[in-house]
Amino acid sequence: MKIGIIGAGAAGLAAAYDLSAKGHRVVVYESAPFIGGQASTIPVGGGVLERGYHHLFTNDRAIIDLMVDLGVDDQLKWYPSRVGTYTSGKVYKTTTPLDLLRFGALPIMDRIKLGLFALKVKRIGNWKDLEDQTADFWLRERLGGMAYEKVWAPLLKGKFGEYYDQIGMPWFWSKIQTRFASRQGIRGREMLGYPDGSFDTVFDALKSAIKSRKGEIRTSTPVTKIEVVDGVATSLIANPTTGEEIREEFDCILSTVPSFSFPDLVELPVDYLSRLTGVHYLAAVVVILEMTRPLTNIYWMNIADPDVPFLGLIEHTNMLPEEWYGGNNVLYLTNYLDRSEEMFSMSKDELLDVYLPHLIKFNPEFDRSWIKEVHYNSLSAAQPIIGTNYSQVIPDHRTPIRRLYLANTTQIYPEDRGTNYSVRMGRQLAETILRDEGENWRNWA
Ligand SMILES: Cc1cc2nc3c(=O)[nH]c(=O)nc-3n(C[C@H](O)[C@H](O)[C@H](O)COP(=O)(O)OP(=O)(O)OC[C@H]3O[C@@H](n4cnc5c(N)ncnc54)[C@H](O)[C@@H]3O)c2cc1C
Repeated sequence: MKIGIIGAGAAGLAAAYDLSAKGHRVVVYESAPFIGGQASTIPVGGGVLERGYHHLFTNDRAIIDLMVDLGVDDQLKWYPSRVGTYTSGKVYKTTTPLDLLRFGALPIMDRIKLGLFALKVKRIGNWKDLEDQTADFWLRERLGGMAYEKVWAPLLKGKFGEYYDQIGMPWFWSKIQTRFASRQGIRGREMLGYPDGSFDTVFDALKSAIKSRKGEIRTSTPVTKIEVVDGVATSLIANPTTGEEIREEFDCILSTVPSFSFPDLVELPVDYLSRLTGVHYLAAVVVILEMTRPLTNIYWMNIADPDVPFLGLIEHTNMLPEEWYGGNNVLYLTNYLDRSEEMFSMSKDELLDVYLPHLIKFNPEFDRSWIKEVHYNSLSAAQPIIGTNYSQVIPDHRTPIRRLYLANTTQIYPEDRGTNYSVRMGRQLAETILRDEGENWRNWA
């Protein structure tokens, strides 16, 4: 078979890897000049760094297994993370269960309640029982009080903005499962994974494997149309940023583009279309600072204070060596927001003017002169908003058009999106395609 894949992120490349391994010819079209999608990198301080902060959890089996298959698993290293929470004008260490007991922003009874509550959620076996409730409602009802208002409510609001009270409870459930799975030892220290050489290590290995099997990856080549004849997807039209329009026929097409841009490529029946448009996405704006000094000693800082204009502060070099980035301290300041929000259209300098006055809250000595370099990235399909009873409306990977498949982050459920789940989905789609189309293969060789 000759298979066209739209998107060279984790899902598209994982699918291309498996399909090419079975002797099929794959052509991957990517609109950006680089591969890796949301987990792609930029040069920083002589090294490379993800546009948006990335790490793995110990239960991210699908991407770990893929690294084993690619022979790069020895490059995945595990690091103890240091987590903090900024609330009530102070940074609290919240790395271990013991830290939680010392979390002075809450009365002692609420601290105990918070810890026991997380254990209770962890023990819930079937997320389907939680599907008809929003996380906000469920947590308010069962945890409530200061423990909810001071910790979980600000985090939900920070992550999902005005949509915070629409998020289905399975999202919270899966977050708790992941965070517990990554804790190790009796002190419950969280370990996080990061590949030597960045996530490029995985993407570069995928690219080499696909190319060695005569697959093609065409960057800077956005697909503009999927052609359909008698209800069957037959070809792709793409417009490379340099050069002539391309029209190429395929036996089967897999799209990994976001739900909001898929309908621009192909006409879809109303029912399927409404499933796609029913999921809203938040964008992410990410500022990366290269600094001469560390701001804090925390890797992952939750911001539980609505007066701070960013949702997260991730100090990458508090987990990974600064030598990888020319000896600089690397810090991300991040926000999830609607594409229509003013902040999404702000320039790098405008964002800095809003953000920087708040950094003294985390370190009173902070001075603008510490900043050597600033990078700015925005990602438009960063976080799908998944509401209640989503299993009933989740868009099928098999679209109503024959031989056209869709695999994007809105189809990851009940887990939250992540590279691990996109890899899992890409590989599952390769299997689905081979099963569905098995009878009709035309071997390309
Ligand atoms: C700020 C941020 C932090 C994150 N942190 C983590 C983390 O710590 N750990 C983790 O595992 N995950 C993290 N994620 C999530 C993870 O990056 C994504 O879930 C995953 O990379 C998605 O992969 P994908 O292939 O499904 O989609 P994408 O990466 O979005 O890939 C889709 C690709 O399709 C391309 N495309 C779109 N339209 C077209 C077109 N018309 N023609 C051709 N190409 C097209 C896009 O350019 C893109 O490359 C984070 C995401 C963000 C935004």
